[in-house]
Amino acid sequence: MIELSDNWGIIGHEWAVDLLRRSIAANRLAHAYLIGGPEGVGKALLALRLAQALNCEGAGVDPCLRCRACRRIERGNHPDVRIAGMATQAAGAKAEDAARQKELKIDTVREWQRDVMLKPYEGRRRVFILHDAEKLNEAASNAMLKTLEEPPPYATLILVAHTAGSLLPTIVSRCQLLRLRPLPRAQVARALREKYNLTADDAELLAAWSGGRIGWVLRMVNAPDELAARQDQLAELLALTDQPLAARLRWAEERAKAYRAGDQTAVFETLDLWQSWWRDVLLTAAGCPQAVIHIDRRNDLAAAAAQYAIPDLHAFVSGISLAAQRLRDNVNPQLALEGVVLAMPERQLR
Ligand SMILES: [Zn+2]
Repeated sequence: MIELSDNWGIIGHEWAVDLLRRSIAANRLAHAYLIGGPEGVGKALLALRLAQALNCEGAGVDPCLRCRACRRIERGNHPDVRIAGMATQAAGAKAEDAARQKELKIDTVREWQRDVMLKPYEGRRRVFILHDAEKLNEAASNAMLKTLEEPPPYATLILVAHTAGSLLPTIVSRCQLLRLRPLPRAQVARALREKYNLTADDAELLAAWSGGRIGWVLRMVNAPDELAARQDQLAELLALTDQPLAARLRWAEERAKAYRAGDQTAVFETLDLWQSWWRDVLLTAAGCPQAVIHIDRRNDLAAAAAQYAIPDLHAFVSGISLAAQRLRDNVNPQLALEGVVLAMPERQLR
């Protein structure tokens, strides 16, 4: 019987940690794992902890997080734990090319594959982590298949993907799938109170905002300025509602420029934030205020809910999702963002 660990220092996803611990204990690891789930849910940390568990200098199935191997893996400089993804691919490219890269290319996969064939230098196992696996283009996916089918016996491959849906089924079927889900709001709030000493109110608010994405929460805890920036950004987005069309279109143009310059994450986060607000207004208008995320702004939500028609709110919330999807599909960013500002709901006269 395996004794209980502290879940590898991971908040939530106990079932996944438990499954991996049992596999290590029984010496029945899969040769390839696919860790899927939304942005910031904890996929990268789980992949890292598995790499540490497989190479920790201590005994047992848990990474000690203190030995030389664990620390080097954490810092990203262990010779047997190789990490690739859009970030490493971009680091090897010229700046102007890097911003335009939208796929994982076959060269990135080939380089990874040559590396996979090498025996461990220091550790027990070679662990390969490929982030952004959903961005493998078709040629790169096909190149991957052979390695996924027959990796060398000393290697463990870990693919990390935001959505397993866009991966080739042949890739998914060769991996053991670990699908991480957003954590319950109460679990996030408890972790923030107990492990990060946040006050109950702050913990509740951050947990509500997080949508269960613990990675996002921890980024905010470590960068309080970002929280203030987020509040400012929301104020700016709400002010747009009362501005003339020309100003809204200018806003779309500026965001599109930022997007093209490589600031995609910020643009997606802006859309997320905006959508979270209007979803809350919609929930409030529809009589479900207990489900809102902006729990510190219930009065403002109620005021807004009284001013808009439910179908308009619904159309706008969907419109923001559609814009995010179009950006992911490489539609012209200005068109996608203009679509959002044109779909903004109008106040109803009462
Ligand atoms: Zn260790």
